Amino acid sequence: MIRVDLPARDPAFTGARKVVRVLRERGHEAYVVGGAVRDLVMGIRPREYDIATSARPEEVQASFRHTIPVGVQFGVVRVRLWGREYEVATYRVDLGYTDGRRPDGVRFTDLREDVLRRDFTMNGLVLDPESGEVTDFVGGCADIRAGVIRAIGEAAERFAEDRLRPLRAVRFAAQTGFRIEDATWAAVREAAGEVRRVSMERVRDEVDKMLRTARPGLGLRLAHESGLLRAALPALAEAMGGDAEVPARALDRLAGREGEVLWAALAWPLGPEGAGRLGRALRHSRRMVEAMRGVVQAGRAIRALPDPDVAVEKRLLRSPHAAEAVGVLEAWLAETGEDAECVRHARDRLAAWTREDLFPPRLLNGSEVIEVGIPAGPRVGEALRAVEDAQLRGEVRTRDDAIRWLRGFAGGATG
Ligand code: ATP
Ligand code: MG
Repeated sequence: MIRVDLPARDPAFTGARKVVRVLRERGHEAYVVGGAVRDLVMGIRPREYDIATSARPEEVQASFRHTIPVGVQFGVVRVRLWGREYEVATYRVDLGYTDGRRPDGVRFTDLREDVLRRDFTMNGLVLDPESGEVTDFVGGCADIRAGVIRAIGEAAERFAEDRLRPLRAVRFAAQTGFRIEDATWAAVREAAGEVRRVSMERVRDEVDKMLRTARPGLGLRLAHESGLLRAALPALAEAMGGDAEVPARALDRLAGREGEVLWAALAWPLGPEGAGRLGRALRHSRRMVEAMRGVVQAGRAIRALPDPDVAVEKRLLRSPHAAEAVGVLEAWLAETGEDAECVRHARDRLAAWTREDLFPPRLLNGSEVIEVGIPAGPRVGEALRAVEDAQLRGEVRTRDDAIRWLRGFAGGATG
C-alpha cells in the first residue's frame, strides 16, 4: 500500500475531497481516480481531479446543487463546486466497441472493474483523498517507479476496443519520458494503422496534448516509428519523407512554447497551404488554422532575408506571426545546420523597429489620391500602397511629401 502527500492547500484538491465526502455521507463509495492520482504519485501537481463512485448518475445529481449531465447514459455527471467542475463517473465497464471509437453503452459495476477498463496501468490508480492511500489493482505504482507505460490487460485487445489508445500511449511517453513496455509497444505498432478510424477531433486533442509536453519531439519520433503518423496525418508523414529526426529535434527546441508555435512547427514541412489544410482537416479553430498557415508562410519568407528593399522587410516583419515564425525558423535551421543569418537579421530588425516604424500613419486617403491625378479604380489602392512603401523606406514623412511623391508616381506610371 502506498500513501501520497495530499495537496491539502490546493483548492482543486479540497474541492475534489469535498465531492468525495458528500457522496460518502450519503452512503456511496467515492475515490479520486485516473490522471490526478498518477500525477500525485509522480510528485506532480494535478491540473484536474476526476472522481469515480458507486452512486448512480441520478444519485450524483441529487447530491449536489449544481450538476451538468454531460453523459448520464455513460454514467458521467459534472459537478460544480466552489467555482470548479469535477467529473464524477459511476463505476462502469464499456459494453462492446463496434466501431473501435466509443463504447456502445456501459454497464455499472464495482471499483475494480472500473479500473480494469482504463487504458494504462499508471492511469488505473485509485486515491482515498482523506487518507492519501493509493489502491493499485494493476501494478501502476511499480510501473511508475520503473518509468514504464503498460496497457492494462492484453494490449492488442485494449487497442482494438478503442483505436485512439496507441496514440495516447505515445502522448503519455512524451508527457512522462517513460518507456513504452515491449508488448505494449508491439501492439501500438500493430494497431497504428487503425487510428485512421478515429475522429479527427480526438486525434487532434491527443496530438495537441503531445505537443504541449516537455518532449514533443519524442512524441513525434514515436508516432513516426510506430506508423501512427502515417495513418493519422498522412500528408504530413509524406512531406516529412522517411526522416522524423530533424522535425522532432526542432520540436524539442520549441517545447513549452504556445500551441500556435508548436502546431506551426509540426506543420512546417507542408508549406503554408498544406499547414492550413492540416489545421482545417483537424477541425482546429479558425484562429489556429490561420496561425499555422501564417507562421509557416512568414517563416519561409523570413528565410529569404535580408531583402534589399526595407519596405519588403517591414511588411514581412510586421505580420502578427513574424515573431513566432522567427522562433520556428530558428529551431529548424539549428537542426538542419543551415546558415541562420536570416534569423539574426530578422531579430535585429524586430528589436530596432518601433511600432511607428512598422505602421507609419496614413498620410492620404483614396479621394485625395484621386485629386492628385490617379484615376479612380484599382490604381488608387496601388498608389496608397506605393505611398506606404515610400514611408516605410523613409522617403516620405509628411502629407506634402506624399503628394509630391505621388505626382511623380502618377507621372512615372502614366507617362
Ligand atoms: P491528462 O493529465 O492529460 O488529463 P488523464 O490521464 O487525466 O491525462 P484523460 O483523457 O483526462 O487523461 O482521462 C482520464 C482517465 O480516464 C485516464 O487517466 C484513464 O484512466 C481514463 N481514460 C481516458 N481515456 C481513455 C481511453 N481512451 N481508454 C481507456 N481509458 C481512458
Ligand atoms: Mg484528465
